[in-house]
Amino acid sequence: MLLIDCPWCGPRAESEFRCGGESPIVRPAAPASTDDTAWADYMFYRDNVKGLGFERWHHRFGCGLWFNVARDTVSHRILAVYGMTDPRPVLESEA
Ligand SMILES: [Zn+2]
Repeated sequence: MLLIDCPWCGPRAESEFRCGGESPIVRPAAPASTDDTAWADYMFYRDNVKGLGFERWHHRFGCGLWFNVARDTVSHRILAVYGMTDPRPVLESEA
């Protein structure tokens, strides 16, 4: 089980959270002129990375807030936790 460090509540068990998938997912800037391929990519396709991944998590049985987690999907080690509007941190494994 993961121990996730909620930015507002502190470390809590994974069972208190729900993973919301890859983050960020950026909505097309001009919806009216976006073609079907770009919409399908936005709506359905995710990278599903092996290794360093960035995800949204929701503290559903705690504060109820969303935040981002940088996590190694192989080891499940959490490398960073940051707010939804914060910039993605640069991690040592990316440098
Ligand atoms: Zn919380």
